[in-house]
Amino acid sequence: MSNPKRVFNFNAGPAVLPLEVLETAQAELLDFRGTGMSVMEISHRSKEFEAIIQTAEADLRELLSIPDNYKIMFVQGGASLQFAMLPMNLRAGGASADYIVTGTWSKTAIKEAKKLGAARAAANTEKEGFNCLPESLDLDPNAAYLHFTSNETIHGVEFFSEPTPPEGVPLVCDTSSDFISRPIDVSKYGLIYGGAQKNAGPAGVTVVIIRDDMLERTPENLPVMLDYKALAASGSLHNTPPAFAIYVVGLVFRWVKKLGGLAEIQKINRQKADAVYAAIDESGGFYRGHAAPEARSVMNIPFRLPSEELEETFVKEAKKNDLIGLKGHRSVGGIRASIYNAMTAEGAETLVQFMKEFQRKNG
Ligand SMILES: *Cc1c(COP(=O)(O)O)cnc(C)c1O
Repeated sequence: MSNPKRVFNFNAGPAVLPLEVLETAQAELLDFRGTGMSVMEISHRSKEFEAIIQTAEADLRELLSIPDNYKIMFVQGGASLQFAMLPMNLRAGGASADYIVTGTWSKTAIKEAKKLGAARAAANTEKEGFNCLPESLDLDPNAAYLHFTSNETIHGVEFFSEPTPPEGVPLVCDTSSDFISRPIDVSKYGLIYGGAQKNAGPAGVTVVIIRDDMLERTPENLPVMLDYKALAASGSLHNTPPAFAIYVVGLVFRWVKKLGGLAEIQKINRQKADAVYAAIDESGGFYRGHAAPEARSVMNIPFRLPSEELEETFVKEAKKNDLIGLKGHRSVGGIRASIYNAMTAEGAETLVQFMKEFQRKNG
């Protein structure tokens, strides 16, 4: 077979997948481990699919050192559905929930929560243009939970340590865009969720990690597809799951394990991000990062150029050099380089060289 052309893909999501994972999926596509069928064609009640989902779960448990008193669920509807399921399940009896608002995604999360009941912002950095982490939190000691977004995908702002909730208030995290990019201490959380299509696989599946006692909060009358307790009890198999997406997510977990796990991947991610931020910092103001240095995301790097015209040229020229997906989100403008786990060091280095060359020609 001829070598297919692959570009350096800096898309924010859906995003680049490890080449090795795609090759395995390709090799197994027509005949999945002797079944004579693809994963898309086998029953979700078959022993083959059981092995897929159980292996994926076991690998994730190992990667994140997830304690035994947590369940893992594979849910459809994206992280966006979690914005609604969370308050429906965890905020029973008219309680209020606290949200730390640091960018577009946490702003959307609190907006959804407010449609269904009481929620308040424990901090909001919108006045600062969502370019920093909050200096202090105004916490409700009776909140049903404290929600934060560990990495704001659009504004490129990332928490490197967890906010501390009041005693007895569970911490909840949307980790869609930095999921499995570094080790975290799962035991600090009541619930963690992340859409797969940023850092862990294809669109169509969201991973939810939930502490057992959180499941006791689910009210009786929820539709079953919105009910954490029912989904956990069924092992994510209440109805037909997104089997192929779960399979690919499982291959990604395997790949991360093979690379040496999350401590190792964190090191690689840090090196890639440092190289791009250095190109920004050493440009003498030609490139300007959006986020304050202490809040800079390792995954998503939004930055501006001296003019919108130059930004447009940058994206066009980059594309000619097989550097794809660098146009920033319309709400921040400029450029955004998403350098998830699967972006190679070579890809990040190629971007850095391109940035230097572009500045030399246009600076
Ligand atoms: C992309 C993203 C979402 C929304 O994800 P969907 O799966 O498209 O619903 C939510 N939160 C964060 C941090 C994201 O990056």
